[in-house]
Amino acid sequence: MEITPHYLPDFIDAVIATIRENEEEVTALDQAIGDGDHVINLQRGLENLKAQAPELSQLSWEAALKKIGISLLGSMGGASGSLFGTLFISMSKKLTEESTLNLETTAQSFSFGVDETKKRGKSDLGAKTMLDVLIPVEQALQQAFEAQMTTDKLHEFICDTALAGVESTRDMVATKGRAAFMGERTKGHLDAGAKTSQLIICAIIKVLDNLNSE
Ligand code: ADP
Ligand code: MG
Repeated sequence: MEITPHYLPDFIDAVIATIRENEEEVTALDQAIGDGDHVINLQRGLENLKAQAPELSQLSWEAALKKIGISLLGSMGGASGSLFGTLFISMSKKLTEESTLNLETTAQSFSFGVDETKKRGKSDLGAKTMLDVLIPVEQALQQAFEAQMTTDKLHEFICDTALAGVESTRDMVATKGRAAFMGERTKGHLDAGAKTSQLIICAIIKVLDNLNSE
C-alpha cells in the first residue's frame, strides 16, 4: 500500500504518545548530562505539529516534510530543534511535488537529511548524540533497499537498529552539544536525543505495521 501524507496525523499522534510514555526516563537522561529540557522542547514542537496535522495531511510529501521542518525549527528551541528541523527540511529537498515515499525514495531522502544534520551539528557518529541513531538507521534503510527486504523484516530491522544505536551511546564520551562540557562523566548515560530519535522511529514503524496488517 502507498503511504501518503494522509497518515501524518496518525504518525504525529503515535509519536506524541510514545514521548509522553517515556517522558520521565528521557528527562532524567537530559538532566544527568544536559539541562533537562529535551522532552519539553520536543513536546512543544509536537503540539505545534498536531495543530497543523489536518493541513499537513493534504500536502505532498515534499511540502509536508518542509512544513514539518520549518515548524520544528521555529517552535522547539534547543540544539535538537535546529537539528530535527534541518533533518526534515533537507529530506524534503530530495523530493519533488510528485514524489511518493517507497523504500528507495525514503532511503535517499533520509540519507540527504542525515548528511545535512551532520553538517548543521558539525558532528558525526560516536559523539553521543541523536546521530548515533540516525546514521545507523540511514545505513540500514540503504541496505534494506539493496537487499529488497520484505516489509516485515524491514520494520524489525530498522527499529532494532535504532535501539542498538541508543544503546551504543551509553559508553561514549560526549564531544558535541551541552553534554560535551561534562566529558568523561557522560559515560554510563544514554543520550537523550538518541533516545527520542529511536522512540520516534519505532513509533512510526509500529503505525506502518498496523496499516500493513489491516
Ligand atoms: P539543548 O542541548 O540545547 O538543551 P535539547 O536538550 O533539546 O537541546 O537536545 C539535546 C540533544 O540534542 C542531545 O541529547 C543530542 O542528541 C542532540 N545534540 C546536541 N548537540 C548536537 C550536535 N552538535 N550534533 C548532533 N546532535 C546534537
Ligand atoms: Mg537540553
